[in-house]
Amino acid sequence: LQRVQDMVAFVTGAGSGIGRATAIRLAQEGAKVCLADLKENRADEVKQQIESFGGQAIVADVDVSDPKRMEDAIRQTFDQWKRLDIVFANAGINGTLTPIENMSEQDWDRTLTTNLKGTFLAVKCAIPHMKQNGGSIVITSSINGSRKFSGFGSSAYSASKAGQVAFAKMAALELARYKIRVNVICPGAIETNIGENTKKTPELKNIEIPVQYPQGSQPLEHGAGKPEQVADLVLFLASGESSHISGTEIFIDGAESLL
Ligand code: NAD
Repeated sequence: LQRVQDMVAFVTGAGSGIGRATAIRLAQEGAKVCLADLKENRADEVKQQIESFGGQAIVADVDVSDPKRMEDAIRQTFDQWKRLDIVFANAGINGTLTPIENMSEQDWDRTLTTNLKGTFLAVKCAIPHMKQNGGSIVITSSINGSRKFSGFGSSAYSASKAGQVAFAKMAALELARYKIRVNVICPGAIETNIGENTKKTPELKNIEIPVQYPQGSQPLEHGAGKPEQVADLVLFLASGESSHISGTEIFIDGAESLL
């Protein structure tokens, strides 16, 4: 028996990194997956990969901060397979890394809107389709939103990630009556493309202070983790194996946040 057999999953940021690895892992274990991302081409590649081993996937071109697109994509997923069991609210950006005194409102808004509002919208739009049968929602925060505040210039990112943790806990409490579980994962450094679109301003050097350990180093792995390792955690939280787990925040960082 597959671990999420015949379940339907909606995954944001599915074209790259953690979202991509998780979408593939869920499909390997029997889920039908909607791949939501900005970059339709990369989600298309993931769809092809899933179909190559006999899995089922559809692609949705979604900006997670756009309520209409989010609502349409989640409805499309439900209409396609007549159910929705799993939501992985994962799309996110580092945004612009800069000191607070140099951060523009636009940069602040872009990070908060993508990471925090995008999470709210995914959860809100999923509720009508999940409340009948229950399900599992997993939100990707970060150790930088909960246990480790050492990313210089990432005040907006950290604030958005901390907001996701608080939101997940309130959602777990509220949605328990529909048998919808909500959990939040806090990865440490993971080898993905997230750095590619990160902008750093020159003023960043003004707030960097020497640290005692090499940044990004993880005691367990002596380096960054892999998206596939995060995918295994999300699979567990999505499946019935975690049926009594809700409102929990799980660190997946090779003990990085303890340094
Ligand atoms: P990634 O850049 O490889 O993938 C993120 C995906 O999200 C991309 O495909 C991108 O197109 C998509 N995306 C970005 N903005 C979007 C929007 N507005 N609408 C729809 N899709 C959008 O990065 P990743 O590392 O896989 O990031 C996934 C999540 O993991 C993020 O929430 C990130 O904050 C979190 N995270 C990552 C790390 C890490 O070290 N990589 C650590 C902690 C947390």
